[in-house]
Amino acid sequence: MKQGDLRYSKLSALFRFSVKYEIGETGFTMASFERPEMGEPYLLTPGPLTTAIETKQAMMRDWGSWDGDFRAMTAKLRSQLLDMIVDSNSEYDCVPVQGSGTFVVEAMLGSLLPRDSKTLVLINGAYGQRIAETLKYLGRDHVIIDKGDYLPPRGDEVAKAMQMDPAISHVVAVHCETSSGILNPIEEISDAVYANGGKLLIDSMSAFGALPLEAGKPRFEALVSSANKCIEGVPGFGFVIAKTSELAVAKGRSHSISLDVHAQWANMNKTGQWRFTPPTHVIAAFMQALRLHREEGGVTARGERYAKNRDVLVEGMRDLGFETLLKDRWLSPIIVTFFNPADPNFSFQKFYELMKHKGFIIYPGKLTIVDSFRIGCIGHMDGNVMQNVVRAAGECLVEMDVKNAAPPQKALNERAILAA
Ligand SMILES: *Cc1c(COP(=O)(O)O)cnc(C)c1O
Repeated sequence: MKQGDLRYSKLSALFRFSVKYEIGETGFTMASFERPEMGEPYLLTPGPLTTAIETKQAMMRDWGSWDGDFRAMTAKLRSQLLDMIVDSNSEYDCVPVQGSGTFVVEAMLGSLLPRDSKTLVLINGAYGQRIAETLKYLGRDHVIIDKGDYLPPRGDEVAKAMQMDPAISHVVAVHCETSSGILNPIEEISDAVYANGGKLLIDSMSAFGALPLEAGKPRFEALVSSANKCIEGVPGFGFVIAKTSELAVAKGRSHSISLDVHAQWANMNKTGQWRFTPPTHVIAAFMQALRLHREEGGVTARGERYAKNRDVLVEGMRDLGFETLLKDRWLSPIIVTFFNPADPNFSFQKFYELMKHKGFIIYPGKLTIVDSFRIGCIGHMDGNVMQNVVRAAGECLVEMDVKNAAPPQKALNERAILAA
């Protein structure tokens, strides 16, 4: 054994004080999802999220960004991401960009929207609002449809807006609006956009890798996602998957040198390299996360695990008396919003601290009208973990002396607006 191997195995021994537990429901034991190895709480937050030990361990070596080994990794990363879109290879290409998800959204907008374009932004939460704000920064002409906290933008509304304003050339939609957890009707939106001669760009940040996308179904010109969402990598870069024909005409459009998707694409195709220092360790971790994604069974299996996580969570929380913001039809397998109980003994801050103490980090809500909190379903965890989340939430209610987890009438009135 080489010295390096020895050190590495010592380190992995250090990491492996974790416990394996049983899958309660089916009754048989299998290698299950381990607790985070360093003893930190599970992140029930939609990125950063809980990652596998193998993904973290992949960050233990250093890489030269110009070296052939690293360039090969970049090439593999691009082609494996493309493989997740059925039939994409001929028509689409993948361009990774340094930074968090927002950087990549901005890169896509600045590079793929012509300077004289007019864009319709579909908003039902914070990420849609951020897209409109980005276009304001970029000085690109745009109009919005804002449905408020969570109501989905519908195909007929998109069609009407485009018919009333023929200058609209592009539409930007959020796939899963992570601020409420709603799964927007992206097929219906896409049909409306293309029926009216427009082009669709998708923020698929929190959906890509878990919800299936096929080239042409729905139709889209480009989408973005990032390393620390459904692929379960660590944060540090995102990627644009765009039609090659759109990338080819994007030269000179970007307002920004570091966010120029065309320049990144052209340079990567020519040299195999990122233009500026890439987050090498993050990319190595991402390659391992991709391997785990593939071994699990790809997009379908990943989506099924998350859906199971959601189902266990929602059923258990409803049994405790909690209510979800959204009706089942709109619940994504990514993150679920629950109303705060009306009981005056309930305090979100207290609930958060108690949950953290029990090993789970949850997320405050983002609704403007009623108080809420969110629990993520994505990350390296399964239904068994979600059962423990529910158990912990039940214990918290007892500890806070909350007798009834039902939300205030105001919350139920709000939800009734979601008629569909
Ligand atoms: C996570 C996310 C983003 C990007 O957020 P960052 O904090 O910049 O990584 C954008 N859109 C959606 C829908 C997201 O879930």
